[in-house]
Amino acid sequence: MTARYSAFTILREGLTGHRGWPQAWRKARPRPAYDVVIVGGGGHGLATAYYLAKTHGRRRVAVIEKGWIGGGNTGRNTTVVRSNYFYPESVALYDLALRLYEGLSRELNFNVMLSQRGVLNVSHTPAQLEIAARLANAMRLNGVDAEFWGPDEIRKRLPLMTQSLDARYLPNGGVWQSRGGTARHDAVAWGYARAADSLGVDIVETCEVTGFLIGNGACLGVETSLGEIRAEAVGVAVAGHSSQLMAKAGVKLPIHSYTLQAMVSEPTKPCLDIVLLHLGTGTYASQSDKGELVFGGGLDRIPSYTQRGAPPMQEIVVSGLTEMFPAFGQLKLMRQWGGIVDVVPDSSPIIGPSPVPGIFLNCGWGTGGFKAIPAGGTLLAHLIATGSHHPISRPFDLARFETGRLIDEAAGSGIAH
Ligand SMILES: Cc1cc2nc3c(=O)[nH]c(=O)nc-3n(C[C@H](O)[C@H](O)[C@H](O)COP(=O)(O)OP(=O)(O)OC[C@H]3O[C@@H](n4cnc5c(N)ncnc54)[C@H](O)[C@@H]3O)c2cc1C
Repeated sequence: MTARYSAFTILREGLTGHRGWPQAWRKARPRPAYDVVIVGGGGHGLATAYYLAKTHGRRRVAVIEKGWIGGGNTGRNTTVVRSNYFYPESVALYDLALRLYEGLSRELNFNVMLSQRGVLNVSHTPAQLEIAARLANAMRLNGVDAEFWGPDEIRKRLPLMTQSLDARYLPNGGVWQSRGGTARHDAVAWGYARAADSLGVDIVETCEVTGFLIGNGACLGVETSLGEIRAEAVGVAVAGHSSQLMAKAGVKLPIHSYTLQAMVSEPTKPCLDIVLLHLGTGTYASQSDKGELVFGGGLDRIPSYTQRGAPPMQEIVVSGLTEMFPAFGQLKLMRQWGGIVDVVPDSSPIIGPSPVPGIFLNCGWGTGGFKAIPAGGTLLAHLIATGSHHPISRPFDLARFETGRLIDEAAGSGIAH
């Protein structure tokens, strides 16, 4: 039984030399069979396992992770959460996630450090302004908080942003979502892992799924580096490795994997109290609790499975940051890294059954799936446990690539993720 974290336990441990903290989750070894095996110990896989156990009472569940939990994109992202999307289908999905984030620390008894400091998308050209106004209107029609800001309001709120009239990109407006912000990415993975473990879920790290056990055309389990595991259902939540892994089941997914980079500066005094996306340069930034500026931009240009990233995109992202905030040019860059993201033609996720009975998909989140973790887990758990889609996940079924009912968010909201 997992001990509850509380102010009292912090006080008790503080007074007794921190010797009594229990392990947050067991180091499980795989059993020969489960009801459900989830492949991938990122946020989506862990959340799926948690909701299978919590909401649907399924206790014979394992999460199989080839590295360490949260070592994929979940622990590599820039932690932005928001639901400023254009299409009603996307808003339903991402706002479900944001609402779940709003109660997540309490739900998991783990502080995910949600900071609803607000997210601003700044526009610079008449065309971007039109998209920004359209996005703000669409959000309000879909029942999500949105405000349209003019340039004066933006300058007032962001005094460090370039004010020079000969700057290449001067703000001419923006869309503000006050409920958006950031959450601590590792805490989301650890919180779901700990809560799932306490409900009996086995979390198996350093165990790679190398193939699927297929009989009569249906999935009967997985082959792993620690042996075969039988399962009635297998959920696949492996982000950038989705197309590689599903190829082992004979399924070709409409996914290309790219490296997405992020960077942090040395820490500085508080100077940026919102999350900012600059449509002109594609760079976005926020400031961490430690004072570091956390920032990123677009995808590397060529599909790749490296977790490092190429210098040309670093240059574009850094120059975007200094274009917005010339004063940040004085800061040193501390760290840079990359993650392998799973990009789908319409920039929307895939949640649904795969063509192989018994295998269910949660992928295609591309550059924006951290914010969706609570919803991705809820919806995949619902699908696996009930055998049918939740109304919110139905539009995101793989079948949309046959029917043509795409949800093209890059075109809709002007943001590629
Ligand atoms: C630099 C960067 C910045 C980002 N910024 C944001 C942001 O600000 N906001 C946002 O919403 N999203 C952001 N994202 C996207 C977001 O991080 C991802 O969409 C999200 O984390 C995906 O979660 P996941 O659980 O699907 O994948 P992951 O966290 O990648 O987990 C998949 C796991 O599967 C494991 N795995 C793979 N193959 C196998 C196998 N064969 N067997 C067993 N395990 C396997 C991997 O080791 C990995 O741990 C960013 C991504 C990057 C890279």
